This record gives sequence, structure tokens and C-alpha cells, in this order.
Amino acid sequence: MARINSNYRKLTAGYLFPEIERRVEAFQKRNPSVKIHRLGIGNTTEPLTPTVIEGLRDGVERLAAVETYTGYGDEQGQEELRIKLARYYSSRGANLEPDEFFISDGAKPDAGNIQSIFSTDSLVAFQDPAYPVYVDSNVIAGRSGSYDPGQGHYSGFIYMPCSERNDFIPEPPVEAVDLIYLCSPNNPTGAVVNHQQLQNFIDYAQKHRAVLIFDAAYAEFITDPDLPRSIFEIEGARECAIEIGSFSKFAGFTGVRLGWTIVPKTLIIEDYKPEEVHRCWLRRQTTFFNGASNIAQHGGLAVLSTEGLQECRKLTGYYMENARIIKEGLQGCGLTVYGGENAPYLWVKTPGNLSSWEFFDKLLYEAHVVGTPGSGFGPSGEGYFRLSAFGHRPDIEEAVESIVNRILL
Ligand SMILES: *Cc1c(COP(=O)(O)O)cnc(C)c1O
Repeated sequence: MARINSNYRKLTAGYLFPEIERRVEAFQKRNPSVKIHRLGIGNTTEPLTPTVIEGLRDGVERLAAVETYTGYGDEQGQEELRIKLARYYSSRGANLEPDEFFISDGAKPDAGNIQSIFSTDSLVAFQDPAYPVYVDSNVIAGRSGSYDPGQGHYSGFIYMPCSERNDFIPEPPVEAVDLIYLCSPNNPTGAVVNHQQLQNFIDYAQKHRAVLIFDAAYAEFITDPDLPRSIFEIEGARECAIEIGSFSKFAGFTGVRLGWTIVPKTLIIEDYKPEEVHRCWLRRQTTFFNGASNIAQHGGLAVLSTEGLQECRKLTGYYMENARIIKEGLQGCGLTVYGGENAPYLWVKTPGNLSSWEFFDKLLYEAHVVGTPGSGFGPSGEGYFRLSAFGHRPDIEEAVESIVNRILL
């Protein structure tokens, strides 16, 4: 008799975004003439840049001629792309070899799949609040007990609360854990770890022989030269860290699909030999995945060209100007706003001790603006609200104006 993987039953219902839509639709029905502004989405809105479009076209053209046609490519991704990525990292002080990069169809699949190379009885720690894939993939793999709705936690997991008290950057866990997920710049809080904070995690990982899984999907939004964009800028990371990167938010590849994971050959766990963890990930990817699209990889090469990088920096600059407009507008109304610097998310403290959902309703009813309740990302998100800087400038300006003019605090 076939049975499903019963761990799927432990997952909390994908309640956040359907509930947002339900409330927005109900409000729109009652108020059909009202224009609703959306500051909730974590999706890019601006078109790909000219150099990148050219790269993608080149990728398509190559498939049209017998001399340049390619089928399955190198299983770790095009060598030229991995060489360019390695050079790009080394220009920022992170020394990696091209064959430590695994090109993929995005950071989310890698963030979900990476746990599969570790023992099922690993003890795992997560930031709270967090991007949901880290927790959910470990629930599906059977590393958790059941979900406790009162606490908003799964038993068997370690949560690292992020709050105003620690500037939304957690301390390493008190207990000895095996795996730690970190995301910086963070979705949803917009917090960015500094060198010292990352060093603390690396020291912890070395002491407890733990592995850090570092999601750097928003690294390119960092403009402050003092903040690390890769964990491999920090001493000791090559022995204990895996990093996940993406072209999605940086270059607008959310729909094109291209990312990468770095598993250093010097990452050693337990009594494993050097390169063994690296080879486990190679084995995982070659078993379950057949490589990123060759067209997308051509686009990725164009992103990493001098012109491509310049254009993509303009693109992130555009979103960061949105972030500045939102932050200034909301602060002008007396709201407390975190994030929005070196990160495209703003983390708003709800006024008057409102719950995240109460503030959602208030913002929707009074200002006709839709955001994302912080409690949807974990219990420590309660009392906060996420706004996203992804959007067309005129829409962002209208939304902010509507908040400034209409919200009653
Ligand atoms: C958007 C996002 C990703 C997804 O990246 P893809 O490359 O599009 O799969 C990964 N991590 C975080 C934290 C994100 O917000």
C-alpha cells in the first residue's frame, strides 16, 4: 500500500499569502472604487538590462546552429560561468576555486535540497523569523517533531530569535547544534550581519563542528564596503560553511532561474575525508538535477561582464531608492522602521502594540496598502510588518503617499 511521506502532514498550511489575498479581496469587494497598493511581494518588477538580454539572445542563437548547439552541459554548470563567479568572489576577498561552485536553477531549490546531504538526526538551528524553505525542507526530511501552534515552533528544532534587542542578528545557539541556516541580507527583516557577528558563528561552528548554510541571495544589495557579502570573506569559513547565491534579485532572474551553491573542498565534517562533503553535493545534484538552462547560463555570463555588472548595480540601486522612499515616508509618520539599507526589505514595528495582522488590516483599510504580516515568518515576527522595495517607482510613491496621507496613528 502506498503511503505519503507523513512529514508533509506536519507542515503548517501555506496560510500566509492565501489569507492576505482573502482579506484584500473582501476589502476590494466592499470598496470597489478603491485602488489597492501592493508593497508585499518579494518579486522583481523591472526588466532585464540590455547586456543581459543580449547574452540571453546569444544563448538562444547558439542553439540554432549545428556548430554551436549544446545539449546537456557540464554537470556543475558552464566552466566559464564558474570561472567568472570565482573571479568575482575573489575580487571581494573570498578565495574560491571554480569547481567549488555548483550552478543551479536558483537559490530556493538549493536551500531546500542542501539538507539532504546531512544526517537525518542532525539538530538544526534557524533564525526566527526566516524565509520558510529552511524550516519546511527539514520538516519534510523528518528532522522535526510536531508543530506547536501555541509557540509557533516545531519541536526538535532550535530557534534563534531576532528582535530589536539583538538588532535582528541572533547570537549562536547555546546548545551544540549540527546545522545552522543564516540569511544575510535578511528576508524578511532586512538586517545584515557584520564581520564580527559572522566570525562568532564561524567560531561556534568550528567549536561544535557544525556547518553554516549561508543564504546570500541579497548580497548584491550591500553597498556598504564594511559589510561582508560572502561568508567566505571571513577567516575559517572554508572549513565550516556552504553559501547559496542567486541571480534572481540582483539581475532580475526570478523568472529566468539561475543560482549557485558553493561547497568548499576544505569543508570537513565528522571523520569525513577532505572533499567528501563537496562530492556528496555533486552526487546529489547529478542524481536529481540535470543542470541549469544553457540559455540562462549565457544570461548569467552577461550579468558578470563589466557592462552587465554596471547595469545590474543600477537595477539594485533602483530598488534601494524605493526602499529609501518607503523608509523616509514611514518614519515621517512616526513609525519605527528597520532594514531598507543594504537590503530591499523594510521591517516595520507595528504601532501601539498592534499584532502583525491587526496592522495589516489597519494599513489595508486606512491606506489601501498591502504588506506582509511579520508573524507569517515565525513567532518572533509578531508585532512587525514586512514591506518590500520591489515595485515600479510610481506605484511605490503612490503607496507611500497613501500611507502618509491616510494612516491614523
Ligand atoms: C528570493 C529568495 C531566494 C530565491 O532565490 P531563487 O534563486 O529565485 O530561487 C532565496 N533566498 C531568499 C532569502 C530569498 O528571499
